[in-house]
Amino acid sequence: MYRFRLPNYNAQCLSINLFLKTSFFRFYCLANVLVPTMAFTLPARIDVHSHFLPSFYQDALRANGHSHPDGMPAIPPWSPEDHLELMDAANIKKSIISISSPGTNLDSNAPSSSTIELTRQCNAYAAKLKGAYPNQIGFWASLPLPDVNATLAEIDTAVSEGCDGFSLLTNYHGEYLGDTKFDPIFKKLNQIGATIFIHPTAPCIHSSTTNASTKAVPFGSQYPIPIFEFLFDTARTVINLFYSGTVDQCPNVKFIIPHSGGTLPPLITRFTAFGALVPGTKTLDPEQVRKQMTEQFYFDLAGTIFDGDTGGRGQLKAFVEGFDISFEKLLYGSDFPFTKLTSAMTLANRMKDGLEHLFTVEERKAIYELNAIKLLSEGKLKKLN
Ligand SMILES: [Zn+2]
Repeated sequence: MYRFRLPNYNAQCLSINLFLKTSFFRFYCLANVLVPTMAFTLPARIDVHSHFLPSFYQDALRANGHSHPDGMPAIPPWSPEDHLELMDAANIKKSIISISSPGTNLDSNAPSSSTIELTRQCNAYAAKLKGAYPNQIGFWASLPLPDVNATLAEIDTAVSEGCDGFSLLTNYHGEYLGDTKFDPIFKKLNQIGATIFIHPTAPCIHSSTTNASTKAVPFGSQYPIPIFEFLFDTARTVINLFYSGTVDQCPNVKFIIPHSGGTLPPLITRFTAFGALVPGTKTLDPEQVRKQMTEQFYFDLAGTIFDGDTGGRGQLKAFVEGFDISFEKLLYGSDFPFTKLTSAMTLANRMKDGLEHLFTVEERKAIYELNAIKLLSEGKLKKLN
């Protein structure tokens, strides 16, 4: 990979960038560094984990006290042009965009109508963007949980507008996926054969008596929530989907679990076997869980899944080798713009090297592109009405 950085380079390289836009090299001038990159040296890919933040959504975040979403330093800037620039730089042929945490239900005390309205606005925006760039952009639609009736209605609308599946947060103000309250939603998602991209958010405790919710973050604002609470909430939710019987009830649903499963992978053997060891606890059949994981679960590679700049060590190696996860279950994810362009490029280059240590050429082609193509074509949503 040809790549170098010159410190203290100034903004004049913007004009160089324009001049060289169609040339052999691509230059990215960001944060006073010049990062020339041969875009085509990165393998072509489909990005199932990237986000959109149109200005009306950013305004809604600020108006509802989310100027530092999940303890992050700021709401990241985003525009369709920024997104296309990332795609060009990282050789992303198609991006399936979604709203990230904290989602579209920004205030548990606000009337449901505000969540319904913001969800509709976001999905309509994504549908329009997909209409403008049908070969490059797809979207996982948001849903206005925990309002079940509104969610059932929005599923129909989003399907009619061409969504590729749905993005669900791990919990909605403490009401977790797998709650029996959400059974009608999963029943419908199963009927239409939906793909569900699960995105973590801050863990919460919900009071069934007062309907209030409290963030369950023991370290308060000491750390940004994505550092580790996201990863734990991912595991918590997936385990709940199995123990609640939701996965059993949804054989037609495909689940995408982000960040290589978060903290789930090392817990797979524990949570599948633990119930059988404790009298009175629901038991799971480990063979059945493994079968369901094989047939219905995918894992995206967003985040820092490799250790160091070279080699295949790290989270992904432990996952695929320790738990015998097939390359057929892995999908590329950038997590842009929460992972900014320069970082996304660094991670993409590290991933290129890391995957070369773990997988064959054909397997890597599947991870970057073919698995997503298969999932998107199999996940074509059936319209019920
Ligand atoms: Zn994300």
